[in-house]
Amino acid sequence: MKIKTLGLTCALLLSTTVMAAPHWGYEGAEGPNHWAKLSPDFVACAGQNQSPVNIEGTVEATLTLPQANYQPGGASMINNGHTLQVDYAAGSTLLIDKQPYTLKQFHFHAPSENQIRGQSYPLEAHLVHANDKGELAVLAVMFEEGEANPLLSDAWRHLPLATGQRIALKSALDASQLLQPRLDVYRFNGSLTTPPCSEGVRWLVLKQPMTASAEQIAAFKALLHHPNNRPVQPIHARQILE
Ligand SMILES: [Zn+2]
Repeated sequence: MKIKTLGLTCALLLSTTVMAAPHWGYEGAEGPNHWAKLSPDFVACAGQNQSPVNIEGTVEATLTLPQANYQPGGASMINNGHTLQVDYAAGSTLLIDKQPYTLKQFHFHAPSENQIRGQSYPLEAHLVHANDKGELAVLAVMFEEGEANPLLSDAWRHLPLATGQRIALKSALDASQLLQPRLDVYRFNGSLTTPPCSEGVRWLVLKQPMTASAEQIAAFKALLHHPNNRPVQPIHARQILE
């Protein structure tokens, strides 16, 4: 009787896990073109305000530059099989139109997900922020090949090679090393670029790319074994402001 109960519990747990996290990926039957059909939780992937996008046909607007008030806070890094993510300690904010958004994590895509006038970059960082209502704002930074980036030099020293592996960082990473001093950005509405592709995300893409060395870019690609960029999505009725 006891064994039977245990078996049932395990089966329930297993089905809950499968339902909570359906498999998705970047190729084949689990690839981006099929995300919306993989789970009822992923229907937003077929929405009208999806990311990434090709940034073109921008509209000039008088915008206050966002301001990053970051302090070192990248304390641990996880290889979740889809990307390499650095989780950030509380206390670093991005001011957008005087509204503070707290930096939660940053992660990487290779090649870039967003494009600027049709141009793709070898690497793109996404700095994910949330305000006190839980609304998200992503600051995206393009990297072109050039000088090594100091944050990547620190972070890449001990890469979590196995999927699901988390590594505690000896000294906290400073996300401001991923940014230009002046946050001149394109702005538009979009979504998460991975399932569940939730919309209502504020996107800010830095106009000026940063640089990463060929070795840094290659090390990230080798870690994931596959490209992790969703193709660009139709812009539909959205405007891109600059
Ligand atoms: Zn991302």
